[in-house]
Amino acid sequence: MRRRHLTILDDSASVSRSADLDDHFHDQCGVFGIYGHGEASNLTYLGLHALQHRGQESAGIVSTDGEQLYVHRAMGLVQDIFSEQQLQKLPGRIAIGHVRYSTAGGSHIKNAQPFAVDYAKGSVAVCHNGNFTNEADLREELEQRGSIFQSSSDTEVLVHLVAMSHQVGFEDRVVDALARVEGAYSLLFLNEDTMIAVRDPRGIRPLCLGILPGNKDAHVVASEPTAFDLIGAEYVRDIEPGEMLVIDAAGVRSVRLPVKAEPRMCVFEYVYFARPDSHLGGRSVYEVRKALGERLAVEHGIDADVVIPVPDSGVPAAIGYAAARKIPFEMGLIRSHYVGRTFIEPQQSIRHFGVRLKLNPVEPVLRGKRVVVIDDSIVRGTTSRKIVKMVRDAGAREVHLRISSPPTQWPCYYGIDTPTRRELIASSHTPAEIARYVTADTLGYLSLEGMLGAVAGEGGDPTGYCHACFSGQYSIAFKGNANHKRQMRLVGV
Ligand code: SF4
Repeated sequence: MRRRHLTILDDSASVSRSADLDDHFHDQCGVFGIYGHGEASNLTYLGLHALQHRGQESAGIVSTDGEQLYVHRAMGLVQDIFSEQQLQKLPGRIAIGHVRYSTAGGSHIKNAQPFAVDYAKGSVAVCHNGNFTNEADLREELEQRGSIFQSSSDTEVLVHLVAMSHQVGFEDRVVDALARVEGAYSLLFLNEDTMIAVRDPRGIRPLCLGILPGNKDAHVVASEPTAFDLIGAEYVRDIEPGEMLVIDAAGVRSVRLPVKAEPRMCVFEYVYFARPDSHLGGRSVYEVRKALGERLAVEHGIDADVVIPVPDSGVPAAIGYAAARKIPFEMGLIRSHYVGRTFIEPQQSIRHFGVRLKLNPVEPVLRGKRVVVIDDSIVRGTTSRKIVKMVRDAGAREVHLRISSPPTQWPCYYGIDTPTRRELIASSHTPAEIARYVTADTLGYLSLEGMLGAVAGEGGDPTGYCHACFSGQYSIAFKGNANHKRQMRLVGV
């Protein structure tokens, strides 16, 4: 009988979905990988910690000692999942890790990543940030051919495709499997001795390469370079759209995927998802957010006494807006950082507690003032309504809401957790109607052109971004997946 190569140390399943007290779109995942370091698992743990903002429901690490893969996954936050003892059970010089906030697939340990399986040629582990838009078709085809799935996640489809490939080498199997999937993906693969990092042909989700100084063979890959800072790694470059990096004993090799497409990096990474201390596509996220605020000030300037952000994500845009309008910037709302995302279940009936738990007004900043409140987006409008009321109840004379992105009118099918179109308030209401609903004196959204101009920067190309959730211009048709049956309208390419 063939020897099994996987040692799986999963905690017992915990099926509670973490509460989400924000009215935001949510990134699905963050990925981190390291090749060639004696403390690969410990560094992956730290990298995942730095990427925790990209997913708080589950996390996992797979390592290899050159002989076999070791897996640990669990529901919860990185710091709660991995103890020193757990990390010691993940030996070897290569590791990949994942933090997850579910989109495709439900919230369950079965869907936690990395996925790892034994197959005829050895073992393989995969972690994925994104969403395969043709997952339903592929799953049906594979099931008809006898595949048995352990999870409802689209990523498992890819694992089956790698295992069933008729190609011989690991790299060729991965390329073969990728030829079948469509959609958004930043992926890390691991077998016993090789790590592969790959970004989809449009580069919708970010992925970057770094190196550990003094360990010139120690290469790191992460969703955002902010994960490199924590472990002292140096950022080398973004992995290109459609590029695959094969990292093994021979070094790093770049391979181009055969599919060609126009780049479509997710513009929402700049607006909200990425950490402000990251840089993506050669641009500082913090600087881009400030520029979004400056453009917003040009498009929707108003006389006021104070500019306040909805913290934390609204802070850089508010700084930019205040500077451009020459209005004092103040912290009129204070965020509590001690409210865990697992505090309560996100039921509509109690969701309003969440806003007060997270934010509290600073009355001396607001009393008697004309206040501009800067936020990055409005999804359902329920949170904005509570924030405006909070500011007004604290004594503000006028409340003017400014949003550093255009109205979010369309769901995302490329790896972001979004409500249905009907739940998006801007899909069925004008800005004036939304202003009335949230009880703001005025409301101004940044235009699509303004947002793209700020993201691209002076002389940059504003066409290389996905903005489907604002414009409805989807670049890849969504064909549905097992748990995610929403329909889309393919408007643009
Ligand atoms: S639809 Fe929106 S959130 Fe989704 S990838 Fe495009 S810009 Fe990003």
